[in-house]
Amino acid sequence: MSSILKQSFLESANTGKILGAYLIVCKRSEVALKLCELFLTRLYCKKGGCGTCADCKKVKGGHVDILRLSAPKVDEFRDAIGFVSQKAVDGVYKTIVVEKADDMNPSAANSMLKTLESPPRDSVILLSSRSVAGVLPTIASRCAIVHLTPDEDFTQQIMRELDIDDTSARVLKDLSGGFADEAVRIYNDKAFMKLRSETIEHTHKLINQKSSAISATADFLESGKERIADVVGVMQSFLHDISVQQKTRNPALIANLDWRSEIERNASHFTSGAISNMIRVILEAERRFLIPVNFRLAAEKMLFDILEERNRWKK
Ligand SMILES: [Zn+2]
Repeated sequence: MSSILKQSFLESANTGKILGAYLIVCKRSEVALKLCELFLTRLYCKKGGCGTCADCKKVKGGHVDILRLSAPKVDEFRDAIGFVSQKAVDGVYKTIVVEKADDMNPSAANSMLKTLESPPRDSVILLSSRSVAGVLPTIASRCAIVHLTPDEDFTQQIMRELDIDDTSARVLKDLSGGFADEAVRIYNDKAFMKLRSETIEHTHKLINQKSSAISATADFLESGKERIADVVGVMQSFLHDISVQQKTRNPALIANLDWRSEIERNASHFTSGAISNMIRVILEAERRFLIPVNFRLAAEKMLFDILEERNRWKK
């Protein structure tokens, strides 16, 4: 098992001296995925990861040579091996990104060993896990491990650097997983910050209105289709806050502090069963959004299911 620094990991994508398999370890899988995305834009972009060209957009939106999986089952991973063994269509490399590798069952994890040991030529496998201990030692030993640990003086550093108040700094802390450079990037991503507010607003309206809110929310989801991972992440985080408020009433544990009054209102309005089932619905939908689907249909199904949970558990 060998550990490498985040910077060396990213630079390897530019120099082409890449290893076959990496394990990104971070408590927040979104942060690990963001790093994978950064790596992949560098790998597929002809300008070294500019973030704006057509190749970079494909990496973010859906690239033919990148397969994304979330805690895959044995048969899903078997298909993935077939995918990665083929020649790249739109670049040099074939990539598999496995999110939540620590949620894989042992038989799925075992089915990866041979591929990790000797990955096909010009292929990369990126695994993300919340801890090293979460994956089998035989998996960890076959990967270069990239540890992502939060910055200790995050809040002070970020308030000083961006000249923002304590509440905004704490919101950014949650969004970035406590990484200052990531927080600055998110803060400057005005499109994301707008998407985040709109997502929370829609989610709040949806769970407080009748089914008529579904089509408006589905329109919104469809308009942000290429950033659906961000959207469902924000929805989960908002609902998670409601659940935390119900259980602890401790504002220090709330992520979306700038929406505190809505969170408190919802916490008293819904049962905890309703909220946790809504979160589960979104988690399931997230898996469906990863594969090519009729987007509108999948989005509407998710919204109907959320409302159904709300009605089932009415206070
Ligand atoms: Zn680019």
